[in-house]
Amino acid sequence: VRRNAGDEEFHQAAQEVLESLGSVVARHPQYLDKALIQRLCEPERQIIFRVPWVDDAGEVRINRGFRVQFNSALGPYKGGLRFHPSVNIGIIKFLGFEQTFKNALSGLPIGGGKGGSDFNPRGRSDDEIMRFCQSFMTELYRHLGEYTDVPAGDIGVGGREIGFLFGQYKRLTNRYEAGAMTGKGLVYGGSRARKEATGYGATYFVNSMLATKSLSFDGRRVVVSGSGNVAIYAMEKIAEFGGKIVACSDSAGYVVDEDGVDLQLVKEIKEVRRERIEEYVRLKGSRARFIQGGSIWDVPCDVAMPSATQNELTGKDAATLVRNGVVAVGEGANMPCTPEAVRAFQDAGILFGPGKAANAGGVATSALEMQQNASRDSWTFDQTEARLAAIMSDIHDRCAETADDYGAPGNYVLGANIASFVRIAEAMDALGVI
Ligand code: NDP
Repeated sequence: VRRNAGDEEFHQAAQEVLESLGSVVARHPQYLDKALIQRLCEPERQIIFRVPWVDDAGEVRINRGFRVQFNSALGPYKGGLRFHPSVNIGIIKFLGFEQTFKNALSGLPIGGGKGGSDFNPRGRSDDEIMRFCQSFMTELYRHLGEYTDVPAGDIGVGGREIGFLFGQYKRLTNRYEAGAMTGKGLVYGGSRARKEATGYGATYFVNSMLATKSLSFDGRRVVVSGSGNVAIYAMEKIAEFGGKIVACSDSAGYVVDEDGVDLQLVKEIKEVRRERIEEYVRLKGSRARFIQGGSIWDVPCDVAMPSATQNELTGKDAATLVRNGVVAVGEGANMPCTPEAVRAFQDAGILFGPGKAANAGGVATSALEMQQNASRDSWTFDQTEARLAAIMSDIHDRCAETADDYGAPGNYVLGANIASFVRIAEAMDALGVI
């Protein structure tokens, strides 16, 4: 605890996993040997660096860059970069820890890592973003590589940023090493369906959970928080499955549209204009409302998909959702539900899909991007989405079967934690004390 003093989110994520492991170590006591669990909780490497850059007014700015290379027992470190003013080492460590388990659960040969900066991209010009990304990569590049560490996007890092980061990586290394980064644009080695993958994947996962109770999205009211990459493509797939999205948000507040959220308009506002979600009401008119601040979880719904950020859905929010008759909750974001919220859903018997399972479609498709890069190939959208759908269905079934096997049917948290832990533990055990 002292070693990770102040790293609240990391403690929260680690505690959640460790609480699930009692029955697995009782069955496999060898996992308690050789400090395996302690080693699993200690990142293999943490890199912290200065990122100096010059803004459009000619002023020098300083940010802090991070990369936590958490665990490489199953493959090269893999996980996104987050640019957000709230970023600190504790947040990156929690994300790297989660990522390690998520990647193991995907069944693909990737270890876990995460990185980012406390840089705030909001309101910055394209030139400023480019200069920041170039400076960030000027330090980070020496730690990356297709066999070493492969970053991708996360909050505040989308296609534009990945382009600038990859451009600088290519320039510094003098290598066109496409597999050193994922989330790339299609013309320079990206994968079709990567942009859609996390949101689509989370929706597939929730759909599988619903199917275990002979339910579906069809005709159901759905609330999706956020309006970024994950939220937008979750909404797209939910609509395709017949669900009606009644609310979405950004950090300033939320929009309720009882006619069903107009996704094209959300894409125009967020992906093209890069404006605030509040604009939705002005552009759409009709019955749409914007509520500043407040909790989006007050909006009654059948399915909730928190897809913005960590700890955005509290115990109180969960109680409201349960009262309003929610039947399923799928975490599009990483750890968006507080431990109290997760307990409230489980106590009420609500289907609950934890992020490390439900949002694994993004990283899984990143691994497919690496496969395409390695074979100098480019798959069709349908081929890639079919692989994504199969991976999500496997993840769902693995969690459900593991939960059954350990006497906790329907507990996807336990199933996800145990199934991923066993895979990492087997590899770590085989590789010796390193
Ligand atoms: P984006 O930057 O594209 O979108 C983030 C969205 O969440 C925005 O609407 C943003 O609003 C909102 N948001 C961010 N921070 C806060 C905050 N502190 N309070 C309230 N709202 C906030 O990020 P992504 O969609 O890529 O990521 C969303 C979540 O999904 C994160 O938890 C991420 O780790 C997780 N995830 C992402 C994957 C991916 O492939 N992109 C893969 C797996 C998980 P605003 O614009 O106002 O800041």
